[in-house]
Amino acid sequence: MIVTEKAPAKLNLSLDTPMRYFDGSPQWDMVMVSADLADYVTVETHRRPATIKVYTNSSFLPNDQRNLAYQAAHILRSRFHCKDGVTIRIKKQIPVAAGLGGGSSDAAAVLRALNNIWRLGLSLSELAKIALTIDSDVPYCIYNKLAHITGHGEKIELLPPQPHYWAVIAKQKISVSTPQILRQINYEKLHHLNNEALLVKLKEEDWQAATKYMGNVLEPLTMNVYPEIGRLKNKMKELGADVAQMSGTGPTVFAICHTESRARRIQNSIRGFCRDVHVVTLL
Ligand code: ATP
Repeated sequence: MIVTEKAPAKLNLSLDTPMRYFDGSPQWDMVMVSADLADYVTVETHRRPATIKVYTNSSFLPNDQRNLAYQAAHILRSRFHCKDGVTIRIKKQIPVAAGLGGGSSDAAAVLRALNNIWRLGLSLSELAKIALTIDSDVPYCIYNKLAHITGHGEKIELLPPQPHYWAVIAKQKISVSTPQILRQINYEKLHHLNNEALLVKLKEEDWQAATKYMGNVLEPLTMNVYPEIGRLKNKMKELGADVAQMSGTGPTVFAICHTESRARRIQNSIRGFCRDVHVVTLL
């Protein structure tokens, strides 16, 4: 049986971390939304060969157990003692290692597809629990809806859907290592966000007011190494973005706009110094 799942990119409308757990991993306090910039993940199961194979159209990606999509198939197969082989084909459109959660979204897509193919009957929250064993953003990517995420990434509160906003997603040619940035966090120096106020506004469905409380506490860490991220962000703001900020640990910067024309204007103005630019709707 073959199933194709859409695996959208995520954007961090707010990203904060109140503390580190004993194991060194950050406790998260984030609001995420998905954008209509997506990979397409086709999953096929077969009796023989009883192996997991991953194929992608990206030469940058591993296709063995280092691929998060492979790990997703492996975990579900072991947990439910399925003996089938699994072939995964990923049409990659989300920039890699960009702070857009592409790998996490591919892994979540494989979990949803196999839940369907093997008729496991797992609810989304049961799938999200399994997803956490892969990576912290995978539980969110099971849902791909505007949500408040806390804990290690496993506590997910869905929020009212966003009104029809647009995003300009721009990735400069910079590589950022997420673990390296996370190790550098100095909790005494972090300027925390007012996520409570953000949640109130999002629940009131007052997005214009909510935009004032969006932010990413990790921006100074990544921008310290790559000041061009800050320059791109400022340019987007000058051009009239409602919000302009970094997603995840970067390097991607996104602008949120309430009209498509504003988003296109930003896209046209920044193309000169950033080629990888997408204008998309939020999901
Ligand atoms: P994170 O912040 O979760 O580390 P990201 O959103 O910045 O991730 P990804 O595109 O998910 O970026 O890639 C992060 C790392 O995961 C890369 O080093 C990449 O090689 C690895 N990876 C494993 N599987 C995948 C996949 N299916 N798609 C993209 N990257 C993958």
